[in-house]
Amino acid sequence: MIAAPQQHYRARSLWLDQIGEPLAPRLGLSGEAHFDVAIVGAGFTGLWTAYYLKRSQPDARIGVVEREIAGFGASGRNGGWASGGIAGSWSTYERHHGRDAVRRAEQETYSTVDEIGRVVEREKIDCGFDKGGSLTLAMTAPQESRARARLDAARRHGLGADDLRALDRGELDRLVNVPACRLALYTPHCARVDPARLVRGLADACERAGVVILERTEAIELAPRRVRCRNGLVTADHVIRATESYTTQLPGERLRYLPLYSLMIATAPLSDTIWNDLGWQEGLTIRDERHLFFYAQRTTDGRIAIGGRGAPYRLDRPIDETSERNRGVYERLRATIRRHFPQAGDAVVTHHWGGPLAVPRDWCMSVHYEPSTGFGWAGGYSGHGVVAANIAGRTLADLVLRRESDLVSLPWVGHGSRRWEPEPLRYLASQAIVNVLAAADRYEDRSDRPARWTWAVAPFTQPS
Ligand SMILES: Cc1cc2nc3c(=O)[nH]c(=O)nc-3n(C[C@H](O)[C@H](O)[C@H](O)COP(=O)(O)OP(=O)(O)OC[C@H]3O[C@@H](n4cnc5c(N)ncnc54)[C@H](O)[C@@H]3O)c2cc1C
Repeated sequence: MIAAPQQHYRARSLWLDQIGEPLAPRLGLSGEAHFDVAIVGAGFTGLWTAYYLKRSQPDARIGVVEREIAGFGASGRNGGWASGGIAGSWSTYERHHGRDAVRRAEQETYSTVDEIGRVVEREKIDCGFDKGGSLTLAMTAPQESRARARLDAARRHGLGADDLRALDRGELDRLVNVPACRLALYTPHCARVDPARLVRGLADACERAGVVILERTEAIELAPRRVRCRNGLVTADHVIRATESYTTQLPGERLRYLPLYSLMIATAPLSDTIWNDLGWQEGLTIRDERHLFFYAQRTTDGRIAIGGRGAPYRLDRPIDETSERNRGVYERLRATIRRHFPQAGDAVVTHHWGGPLAVPRDWCMSVHYEPSTGFGWAGGYSGHGVVAANIAGRTLADLVLRRESDLVSLPWVGHGSRRWEPEPLRYLASQAIVNVLAAADRYEDRSDRPARWTWAVAPFTQPS
C-alpha cells in the first residue's frame, strides 16, 4: 500500500486537523497473526469493544485491524455530541421487546454519557468533555408544534422534567441569546467532546493496556475465526466487525445500511466579545427542529462547529471523498449561523468536512454476536454513535465473555432490520428524503405553516 500523506488524514475534519501529534500510521499487518479477539475497524465501536474486553480480561490477546488510522471514519469527524437518547425508534423496539426494555435502554444511554466521562478522566483523555446539556430550538410555528409533540412523547414514555423540559425565557437567556426562539427544550443528558481527541485517546489507552492496533491494514474478507487482509491473514477465536457505514463496502453487505452523509463547517475562533454577546454557555450543544436539523457545539478553542444532513451520495460510489463537501449544505449552515447567531455571522469559515453514517432501513441500531461461530458486529446508529458505540462495545465485551449482564438483554441485541431496496431505489429514496425535507423547511420558514407533504418520505424515514 502507498503511504497516505498525513495531510490527507488531517483534511478529513477540523478535529483531525487539530490533533497535536503527527498522524503517522501505526505498524500494519505483515504475514499472519493470531489473537483471541480480532476487531475490524478502529472507530468508537471497535476501540470501546477492545477497551472493555481488556479491562475485564487483561491477559486476552486483542488485535484491531484498521484500513487507515484510528478515528479515520465517522468517529474522528462527527459533531461531538455524546448525547443520551436511543438510536432508533421507541415504537419499533417496543413492539419486539416491550415498554420496560425500551425504558431501560433509554436510561442506559443517559448513564453512558457519564460512563464516557469516567473513562475520559481515568485515562486522562484531553478531549474537552463537558456535560453542559443540550438545547433544541423551535424558531417557527411548525417547529414549535414538533417540539411540543417531542415533549409529549417523552412524557408518554415516562421521561420526566429531569430528562427533558421546556425552558422559560429567563432560563433560555441564561444558556444562550437567541431572541427569535419560540420554544426551547433542554436535556441535561449530553456532553460536548472533541471526537478525534476522544477516539485517538481511546486508541492510546487500548494500546497502553496491551491491545495491538494494526493500521493501514485493510480487511477484505471477514468470516468466523478469520479475517483475510490485503497484507496477510488474522486468525482469532472471536471476530468482531466494527466498520459501521463502511460495512456496505464489504461483500454481500451493500444494502445493510444507507450511507447517509452528514457535513459540517467550523468558524475561526471567535472573540470573547462575540461569545459574551452570544451568551452561549460552555459545553452546551444546540440543535433545532427543522426537518433537516442543524447540530452545533462551542469548541474548546472558541469556534462554532455546526453540521447538518442533506448531501447526496454518489450512485456509482456510495462512499466517496467527493461527497464530503457540498456547496448547498455549506451555504445552508452559514445561513443558519447568520440567522440564529448573527453576532458570529461574519466569522470566517476555516473548515468544511463530512462523513458517512449508517442508517438501517428501520433506523434502529443492532448488536449481534453468535456464540457458536464467535462472530459479532454492531452498528446502524443513525447518527447517535458517540454514545451508542460505547454501549455496543460494553455489550460485545459481555457477549464475547459470556457474561449475563443487563446489557445483553437490551432491545438492540439481536435486533434485525430488513435491508434497503436495491439500487437505484435506495439512491432515489435518499434523494427524495433530502429534497422533500429541504423543500419542507423552506416552505415552513417562508409561510410559518406546516409542510404536510413530508408524509411522502415517511416510509423511508420512519420505522416500518
Ligand atoms: C459529520 C458527522 C456528524 C456526526 N455527529 C454525531 C454526533 O454529534 N453524535 C453522535 O452520537 N453521532 C454522530 N455521528 C455518527 C457517529 O460519528 C458514528 O455513528 C460513529 O462514530 C460510528 O462509529 P464506528 O466506530 O461504528 O464507525 P467509524 O467511526 O466509521 O469507524 C469504522 C472504521 O472502520 C475502518 N474500516 C472500514 N472498512 C475497513 C476494512 N475493510 N478494513 C479495515 N478497516 C476498515 C474505517 O477506516 C473506520 O476507521 C456523526 C457522523 C458524521 C459523519
